[in-house]
Amino acid sequence: MKIKDVLKDNKVHISFEVFPPKTEAAYDSVLSATEKIASLKPAFISVTYGAGGGTSKNTVKIASKIKEDFGVPSLAHLTCVSSTKEEVHQVIDRLKENGIENILALRGDIPKSTEFPLPNHYKYAYELIEDIKAQGDFCIGAACYPEGHVETEHKKDDIRHLKQKVDCGVDFLTTQMFFDNSILYNFLYRIREQGITIPVLPGIMPVTNGKQVKRICELSGTILPERFRAIVDHFGENPEAMKQAGIAYATDQIIDLIANGIQCIHVYSMNKPEVAGAIMNNLSEILKA
Ligand code: FAD
Repeated sequence: MKIKDVLKDNKVHISFEVFPPKTEAAYDSVLSATEKIASLKPAFISVTYGAGGGTSKNTVKIASKIKEDFGVPSLAHLTCVSSTKEEVHQVIDRLKENGIENILALRGDIPKSTEFPLPNHYKYAYELIEDIKAQGDFCIGAACYPEGHVETEHKKDDIRHLKQKVDCGVDFLTTQMFFDNSILYNFLYRIREQGITIPVLPGIMPVTNGKQVKRICELSGTILPERFRAIVDHFGENPEAMKQAGIAYATDQIIDLIANGIQCIHVYSMNKPEVAGAIMNNLSEILKA
């Protein structure tokens, strides 16, 4: 099923994300975690794509399993910056052969070691979106950044580039993680004002590792609000306490989003069925309301 059709009804939906195994040895454990997440009946499960394209086969394989064997719509991420256009076209062909209808079209981070862009490579995600549209009838998602993408100095330029990307045929957007909902509300106001009207799925990350989150925030430019920083400072060294606090904080963010009319929320629970399950459990009555 196409995600744009899943989003059409008037219900609240929760989706989850998994990352593919880097080695064949890890394949079974990733698949088993994915099956457990699928049993929670999310709106869809997305499967990330390794930065250099090295895990592309497993992204396609896991996305196909989610759809065919676990009965949940799947969303395959696809990055383009580190592969030639021909290589990217081959992956699109494989997605089509496997009946995968939804692609999250991404540029990927610019590799530090090479000139940018390399000949016959993509420069921005909008070029990939044009190619996906030309190759098949896919539902296309793209990324957006409520706090601005790290490479762009001014948010208004980022939103202008986002509008250009959306106009190439994007059906929905998923946001970078954020820990302060007011940033999302402000962003939605700004993009709606610029004529971006497609659904935006806020990306919520339940933080289960205090050390990692500080590093991720430094790299992505995501702000750690004081309220959340205090939680990480206090519980960051105790994995079980941090997990419980991270799930509670993410649940609180999700409830606030739902209360403010957001209908579909994407949870970066990664390959942790217990985290995805705890969130769904916390929302059991809320999702019925
Ligand atoms: P773009 O939309 O191309 O934007 C990149 C930068 O270029 C921005 O600063 C933008 O303002 C600027 N720009 C865009 N168009 C123009 C233009 N015409 N002229 C000048 N500047 C322009 N990475 C992975 O490797 N694998 C994943 O699976 C993955 N999943 C992600 C999922 C989500 C929801 C998000 C938010 C990010 C994900 N990423 C993933 C990270 C993503 O690949 C990086 O953030 C990357 O640096 C930007 O990708 P993009 O598709 O947003 O790029």
